[in-house]
Amino acid sequence: MFSICKINNIGYLHAPLLSDCDFLLHAFCTRHGGVSQDDYKSLNMSFREGDEEFRVLQNWDKLASAFNIPMENFLVLNQVHGDNVFVIKPHGDYFTSCEALNYDAIVTNRTNLAICIKTADCVPVFFVDRIKKVIAAVHAGWRGSALGISAKVIHLMQNQYGSRPRDLLAAIGPSIGPCCYEVDLPAAEAFRHQKNAEDFLFPGKQKDRWMLDLVQANRRQMLDCGIPDANIEAAGLCTSCRQDDFFSHRGSGGITGRQINFMMIKRDPPCRVLTVDDKRRLH
Ligand SMILES: [Zn+2]
Repeated sequence: MFSICKINNIGYLHAPLLSDCDFLLHAFCTRHGGVSQDDYKSLNMSFREGDEEFRVLQNWDKLASAFNIPMENFLVLNQVHGDNVFVIKPHGDYFTSCEALNYDAIVTNRTNLAICIKTADCVPVFFVDRIKKVIAAVHAGWRGSALGISAKVIHLMQNQYGSRPRDLLAAIGPSIGPCCYEVDLPAAEAFRHQKNAEDFLFPGKQKDRWMLDLVQANRRQMLDCGIPDANIEAAGLCTSCRQDDFFSHRGSGGITGRQINFMMIKRDPPCRVLTVDDKRRLH
């Protein structure tokens, strides 16, 4: 079960499997602990939803100081509901200032870089290769899930980093549950070709409406890629049912903020160098 934590009034969740990795820092944040008002109350981390910019900036500042991570070390994508994956090499520049980061997943082994996924119903997924120390953050809404974005990221980790599925851990944060996520026929059709679709797509109460379990759809991709079931854990919290704690796009009717989910590989502490005066020792 995910644990509920608080730091400087910022409420967040920890996935136990990831907490056991001493090289990691991660948080699935709630909406608590920020300064935004009304529909965006309070820890809205998105500048793109109509909130006042100065408040969002203050929220970022609060997050950065609470977790003691410089603000410029958080990397936020311009999520576009696709399946493009941004791979960040361990050294060198990773983008130019004019580049729009239109991606829905990040993979990296770079230290001190907090990779972020903004959500308000979509599924935030974190993958960790605990042996090779590679991490990935995924934004999986229905379009990305239908495109198989979780499987795509796992394959990329295997091909580019030599990750073995049995070494991968997966943590799935709060997202809209099958209790509240009704989709129409085009969305349902997008999943029909997937294996075991009956595990996560159920007939709705109305004609041509379906209830979609996005967490299960992504878990299915992980299992099919060979990640052991015991290595996958989900928060099990529905953002629409729990709007007191989380932003929900569907639950709010569309005007709301975004919570932030982030993960970072901590930099190894520098070795303590013992200075020895060899000459003096010889005499
Ligand atoms: Zn619900």
